[in-house]
Amino acid sequence: MTPPRRQPARRRTATYATVPLAVAALLGAAGPTAPGTTGAPGAGDPYFPLSGNGGYDVRHYDLTLGYDTGSRRLDGTAVLTARATQNLTRFDLDLKGLTVTAVTVDRTKADFRRDGQELVVTPRHALRRGREFRVTVAYHGTPKPVTDPDGSPDGWIPTDDGAFVAGEPQGAMTWFPANSHPRDKASYDFTITVPKGRTAVANGVLLGESTAHGRTTFRWRETQPMAAYLATATIGKFQVERYTTRGGLRVFNAVDAREARAAAPVLKKLPSVLEWESRLFGPYPFRAAGSVVDHAPGVGYALETQTRPLYSSAPDLDTLVHESAHQWFGDSVSLTAWKDIWLNEGFATYAEWLYAEQHGGPSAQKTFDALYARPASDALWAYPPGDPGSGKHLFGTPVYARGAMALHELRRAVGDRDFVRILRAWATGHRGGHGTTAQFVRLAEKESGKQLKGLFHTWLYTQGKPNSP
Ligand SMILES: [Zn+2]
Repeated sequence: MTPPRRQPARRRTATYATVPLAVAALLGAAGPTAPGTTGAPGAGDPYFPLSGNGGYDVRHYDLTLGYDTGSRRLDGTAVLTARATQNLTRFDLDLKGLTVTAVTVDRTKADFRRDGQELVVTPRHALRRGREFRVTVAYHGTPKPVTDPDGSPDGWIPTDDGAFVAGEPQGAMTWFPANSHPRDKASYDFTITVPKGRTAVANGVLLGESTAHGRTTFRWRETQPMAAYLATATIGKFQVERYTTRGGLRVFNAVDAREARAAAPVLKKLPSVLEWESRLFGPYPFRAAGSVVDHAPGVGYALETQTRPLYSSAPDLDTLVHESAHQWFGDSVSLTAWKDIWLNEGFATYAEWLYAEQHGGPSAQKTFDALYARPASDALWAYPPGDPGSGKHLFGTPVYARGAMALHELRRAVGDRDFVRILRAWATGHRGGHGTTAQFVRLAEKESGKQLKGLFHTWLYTQGKPNSP
């Protein structure tokens, strides 16, 4: 995401009643609910305790959506194919707002109730560990964004001609029921119907579009594993541009006419930016690429939605480089905990520094020096990037700038050749999966043959301005 977002805070927690014994007895042959057979309401992330859920792993989302841009009503059917990771008599999905009309598990009607952002599903028959199952949720309503702990809007954000749909970190649950934590990645199909004249843009490849009775349906498919927060279904009056790059990537750009003039020279550079990043980080991890440039003045940020970054206004080149770098760092290699956010933002920021260095701008060392010259009282040193402390600080300057400084210090310690080898090994070794800070530190030590724990401790975990670079 870029740029750093705004201010303050709120957090919610909820309590969970256990299934009453009488109900539990009806649930399956096992009789009363044994401990551990209900899926946890969160994925265990202390920054967002209710994001994601325990007890199952989603393999695929098939989302069928209809959006009326006039009334702002969304009609949705979500079909999730998942695998139980424990015996399950009950499990949660994340869904905030909206009205659920029916839930089935393997085509059998399931009981459900709402509890804050949790949609609690009780299947007719308990699910055995390892079993694949299919949940269908029918829902509708007027989606509204959530306000994140830093005060910024997140999720389905209505615009004057459609919706700007960006889900980091919590917003996926505002438009579809999900296991909404980056630990659980899945493939996606989207079928989105909007009034004729509007375009609905999701992730991956456009399979087709058809118009009937004044409405147009767009079918999109993302086959590569994707975290729920990186899904989009952005809708607007867009100018569309499609082409295939020399390397065979299918590019789809959608641009609001009000942003077109400013966006054109930057979007033209997308193929060369992706080529440059591929030379540095290894092969581009996806089959499709592109951009959505919306006109959403109230939003003020961009997001690295998978395969197709989303901008709330025409981006500058730095921002395009940043969101493109996230395709490797954040999208392909995903977080297991939001605390590790510097693995996304520090890397994408350092990609900007490297791009500038190799394209006639200041050297990364110069950028580092200018930042290091800031006084100890500067916001840059407010908290350590490897431990931001709460969801409120995910998108603050220390995560981006000091995170990039940590990578620059690594580069100085190991030399350019090993540094690039480390970045490539990280991107290729964890491609389509996950990575933690501890794993990155181990990899850097292994690739360079150097002891680096002290360096990372200083730059990622020490409070205040580090003593000397
Ligand atoms: Zn970013």
